Amino acid sequence: MRKAIYPGSFDPVTFGHQDIIERSSVIFDELIVGVLNNSEKNSLFSVGERVSMLKEITKDIPNVTVDSFDGLLVDYMKEIGATIIVRGLRAVTDFEYELQIAQTNHVEYPRAETVFLTTNLKYSYLSSSIVREFAAYGGDISKFVPSQFVDRIYEKSNRKQDGPTAVKNSK
Ligand code: ADP
Repeated sequence: MRKAIYPGSFDPVTFGHQDIIERSSVIFDELIVGVLNNSEKNSLFSVGERVSMLKEITKDIPNVTVDSFDGLLVDYMKEIGATIIVRGLRAVTDFEYELQIAQTNHVEYPRAETVFLTTNLKYSYLSSSIVREFAAYGGDISKFVPSQFVDRIYEKSNRKQDGPTAVKNSK
């Protein structure tokens, strides 16, 4: 039974995350999407909100569940009996950090193996922080996130969805 965890902040979830979830669900018997309950005060969505958005987009994939966790990933993995960590690799810039984390996790928990999925080229530029930044300045985020979340993201960013012209007009 290959039980994998895909950990991340998902603040907010993007098409890049969704793509990794869908592709991993085919590879592993069971996939847990784990929202890191970090104490960052400046996150856009609460952990509960992020979990519920992820549940919405994964509800039709039977072997995917969504949960949140505190503290060390490897401790959570031991608790739930997962041994595989899924991470997405976008560009070389992701690699150095990801390699370091993967090796540290392996030292902490030798049964833990990290599997990297290369990003879908369509989403290689995409990150949650880009989405947050675009939304804050009234940019069009509909190409980055599932449509049902667009308004929620603008609301959180205190912007109305006027598209890029809103930025032009505000100058
Ligand atoms: P980010 O803020 O960069 O989206 P997360 O912590 O939410 O970061 O990312 C969780 C995981 O998803 C990481 O392994 C990250 O590399 C991966 N990921 C994020 N965006 C993409 C994307 N566009 N394509 C593939 N993987 C991605």
